Amino acid sequence: MNNNIDLKELHWMLTITQNIDVGLVVLDRDYRVQLWNTFMENRTGVLPDKAANQSFFKLFPEVNERWFSKKIESVVTLGTPAFTIWEQRPYLVRFKNYQPITGQEDFMYQNTTLFPLRSTNSEISHICLVIYDVTDVATNRHQLQAANNALLELSSTDRLTGLFNRGHWEEVLKNEYARHCRYDSQATLVMFDIDHFKRVNDTYGHQMGDKVIQRVAEVTRQLARTADIAGRYGGEEFVVLLPDTDKAGGKIFAERLRQAIEAQEMSHEGQVIRCTISLGVADLSQPTAEYKTLIELADQALYSSKKNGRNQVTVHE
Ligand code: GH3
Ligand code: MG
Ligand code: MG
Repeated sequence: MNNNIDLKELHWMLTITQNIDVGLVVLDRDYRVQLWNTFMENRTGVLPDKAANQSFFKLFPEVNERWFSKKIESVVTLGTPAFTIWEQRPYLVRFKNYQPITGQEDFMYQNTTLFPLRSTNSEISHICLVIYDVTDVATNRHQLQAANNALLELSSTDRLTGLFNRGHWEEVLKNEYARHCRYDSQATLVMFDIDHFKRVNDTYGHQMGDKVIQRVAEVTRQLARTADIAGRYGGEEFVVLLPDTDKAGGKIFAERLRQAIEAQEMSHEGQVIRCTISLGVADLSQPTAEYKTLIELADQALYSSKKNGRNQVTVHE
């Protein structure tokens, strides 16, 4: 290789450095800028000759000086690269985000690499910063997370009432049952069904029936404590799991709920509609082979309430 070619290659290298689509900054040991490529110029509006020899911390007051110096010192001392990633630190320097498609993020997410540059005597005299724009990746990740959260909510809640749906509620019961087996914790199940609901549908129509179901769910939600887990088990059948509650406590809750539903007045075309519920209560004080047994016991108690005249609470004994 002759000198001519070396110079030509050097020229190429400089052009590439200038035009590459990542931010390149070279700092000396006093954090003064020695190289500033076009990416940096475009993003900051600071021309290379204005950036030259400027303090990095003056140019970017948002950079935490203590943290950054420590990072640089480790690169110099160990002679190895260091990195920052957007998940831990969204950006090193704050740039506005101009990407048209991902316009919802107002700053540029960045990954950065810091690596040592050795002089001819192999002493580390400078550090190179490479700043990658990863806004697309971050935005996609955030959108995916939002979509997953929405899906999770959709798959766990009942559309009509907003209570947990049967599948999700059973999962919660399963976990509570496991906790009971491990720690001998107590739990009570209150199960209830709207009385003569077919009549509501037949007399006032299905839409009004839906409204009654919604009102019953709303009252249940209001009376339940935060730790209680209410679900829609079937059409007009509901379940409330009361953790750390025995059946005496469950009975009090069930009776309060019964009275509250009985007291509701809903209007339909000038007519007042009332409804009642029949409830069954069971707890885990008797030996149960599996979580489903608790549902069966509460259901049996509910059946007794229906048989004995409805609008009442039965505790499984
Ligand atoms: P019982 O007192 O014995 O419970 O009498 P019931 O008429 O309520 O009888 P049952 O519980 O067997 O019937 C429930 C009815 O609820 C049957 C079904 O048409 C209706 N239903 C189930 N899901 C919905 C729903 O989402 N909306 C409406 N409007 N009606 C529903
Ligand atoms: Mg019913
Ligand atoms: Mg029913």
